[in-house]
Amino acid sequence: MDDKNNTIWGEACKQLKGILSSDIYDRWIAVIKCLKISGNHMQLAVANDFYKDWLEENYFPMIRKAVMVVSGEEMDISLAVDSSCFEESKKEKEPEAHSSVSLPSFGKKPSHNLNPNYTFDSFVVGSSSQFAHAAAMAAANSPSRTYNPLFIYGGVGLGKTHLMQAIGNHVATKKPRARICYITCETFLNEYIDALKNNSIAAFRKKYRKIDMLMIDDIQFLDGKARIQEEFFHTFNTLFEGHKQIVLTSDRTPSEMDGLAPRLISRFEWGLVTELGKPDVETRTAILRKKSELLNLRVDHELIDYLAERISSNIRSLEGALIRVASYISLTNQHVDIAKVEELLYDLFDKESQAIINVDIIQRTVAEHFDLRQSDILGKKRSRDIAWPRQIAMHLSRTMTTQSFPVIGKAFSRNHATILYAHDQVSGKAKMDRTLQQTIAILKDKVNKNCAKSVQ
Ligand code: ADP
Ligand code: MG
Repeated sequence: MDDKNNTIWGEACKQLKGILSSDIYDRWIAVIKCLKISGNHMQLAVANDFYKDWLEENYFPMIRKAVMVVSGEEMDISLAVDSSCFEESKKEKEPEAHSSVSLPSFGKKPSHNLNPNYTFDSFVVGSSSQFAHAAAMAAANSPSRTYNPLFIYGGVGLGKTHLMQAIGNHVATKKPRARICYITCETFLNEYIDALKNNSIAAFRKKYRKIDMLMIDDIQFLDGKARIQEEFFHTFNTLFEGHKQIVLTSDRTPSEMDGLAPRLISRFEWGLVTELGKPDVETRTAILRKKSELLNLRVDHELIDYLAERISSNIRSLEGALIRVASYISLTNQHVDIAKVEELLYDLFDKESQAIINVDIIQRTVAEHFDLRQSDILGKKRSRDIAWPRQIAMHLSRTMTTQSFPVIGKAFSRNHATILYAHDQVSGKAKMDRTLQQTIAILKDKVNKNCAKSVQ
């Protein structure tokens, strides 16, 4: 591999490392090799079909975006299975955990895996979280007697994992002998695949069917995966019938999971489905004050209020911002004002406006640009003066957000194939048509401006 490949792929990996958890990065990104780059085509390889399918299904848009950010252009990326190019490195790296899917530790008693900081005490309740919080308290106080399963859904970084683990921590304190299992759906799925590979499915079943409380985080990962759904269905029934508490989190409601078997959807709805919404500015301020108190940070109230106002989409980013400002203050011992905060956090503020680039804003911007209404973009009329802007809006939704084709499809009330087709049409045409390239550039600019306006 030459230097150019090394640099572009290496830098893209750095980007991905910053976005993904280290566990996920090691398991799914570190296993990819960049074989070559010619023109704007990048050839990546993985060792087997399993990696290929999983990456294509889950991480491809993210990889594409990272490469685009680094190379400055949209590259045509393909992923091949090439076990031969991994043989050598396998020998070198054998002892490393991420070079192979790690073996599950069946037989051991399930460890709690709970973060001790994620408690009810440290969770700030606001109007967007009061129902979810009350339900979580009820499930923690009388497991399996109130809401079973308890299904908590909401956007990224809004406290789902925190609230779920608060239930676990509460039960673990009250009943130290309770067998509590917290697991992310992705790990659950990987353990299942390993169990299939190693013929240890019986041990897998035993592990998950003999516990008192099962908490699976980010259950949307089951979407579209029929075999693990089948397995989980039986685990669910065994636990439910044994009056064991089940808690699930997801980024969407059960009925919004298109690829989920109807019998699982209905089971997920048996108990309580509750939403964790975006907190309002007062709650965000209260969360930051609490964090700052817990971590003993020296940050003025004025700055805390400013951060709470500027960052609204995600509490994880909000915390990151606070910690960055606090570290700067303690390292330099300098007074920090709002201008300095702007400078320190420019990338977070940027991300914030990107986070709210959503399909809705894109639809409105495109409609306005072509002198249409948003309802025309969403409607069924096929005349070219409407259908073409609609396809452009679909293309922009794909390139300007990290949403998948099915999610974008839903926002346009169409199926994913229509979005894929529109995306191909517009990008194909744009390669040869300068006017279209300019129109797209203008629209992107307008979308960015409209997003920036909507944060203020
Ligand atoms: P999610 O699982 O929804 O992506 P997390 O539970 O990981 O979000 O929360 C992200 C961060 O925000 C965590 O550090 C968590 O402690 C914090 N957080 C989220 N909501 C609250 C809240 N209501 N009160 C205090 N901290 C919160
Ligand atoms: Mg989470």
